Amino acid sequence: MNIHEYQGKEILRKYGVAVPNGKVAFSPDEAVKVAKELGSNVTVVKAQIHAGGRGKAGGVKIAKNLDEVRTYAKELLGKILVTHQTGPEGKEVKRLYIEEGSDIQKEYYLSLVLDRATSRVTVMGSEEGGMDIEEVAETNPEKIFKEVVDPVVGLTSFQARRMAFNMNIPANLVGKAVKLMLGLYQAFIDKDASIVEINPLVVTGQGEVVALDAKFNFDANALYRHKDIVELRDFDEEDAKEIEASKYDLSYISLDGNIGCMVNGAGLAMATMDTISYYGGSLLTS
Ligand code: GDP
Ligand code: MN
Repeated sequence: MNIHEYQGKEILRKYGVAVPNGKVAFSPDEAVKVAKELGSNVTVVKAQIHAGGRGKAGGVKIAKNLDEVRTYAKELLGKILVTHQTGPEGKEVKRLYIEEGSDIQKEYYLSLVLDRATSRVTVMGSEEGGMDIEEVAETNPEKIFKEVVDPVVGLTSFQARRMAFNMNIPANLVGKAVKLMLGLYQAFIDKDASIVEINPLVVTGQGEVVALDAKFNFDANALYRHKDIVELRDFDEEDAKEIEASKYDLSYISLDGNIGCMVNGAGLAMATMDTISYYGGSLLTS
């Protein structure tokens, strides 16, 4: 299950991870009200959809005054945002995150994933942060560092320090980066996450290490013990037919073909799907 950036940042705050002040808004009026409360010189208006690539698609706007906040809020709300992660149909923006602007000195990449190959939580970090980590992975894989976490010991300060040095975090800020990583790890474990991605993690002109973006994915099999997380589910982001099916405990996958497929088990579903497409068919449901 995915959640929005603003919801992820709420969780991070509780774990002592530095994030800029901000609040969700559902209308231009609300956006302006939040911006007024924040009282910062620069305000960032960010489209909240369950997909990355918003920056490049025009879903992140920098407003220099309240009029601009209103203009950007009007422009973004109701807009179909097409990013490289949404598919060509895009996603409608129904919520905005209004955040105080940050004085970014440098952008880094930091994430925690459950690595299925090693069955261990792995920290990944790079000084090549910002928008395109996939490209870094392809062209400069040596610039992405990993720390594999021992599940008994947890992420150690030593590992977090080594990661901070590998990422070339300025030496005087390594302590802050370590604190952030340990908080992030605790949030990941406590909430049974399967991915937490901070891209970008930034160092600011004030010498802070701050999470500027937050992407969480949670292990669906553990949601029964996280009522607080389940409450964050945004049905607008999910397929209506899949929501309806989930009410009856049915795993319904909505696809775009013309052949329906009712099977017992994921393996059989995949094999049937392969067979159908091998013979030129396309699936409607599975
Ligand atoms: P994504 O493209 O969906 O991953 O959205 P992000 O939240 O990562 O934002 C994309 C880019 O917008 C970031 O890499 C930053 O360069 C920029 N950005 C986001 N928030 C701020 C902010 O508070 N201040 C400034 N100046 N830039 C920001
Ligand atoms: Mn990002």
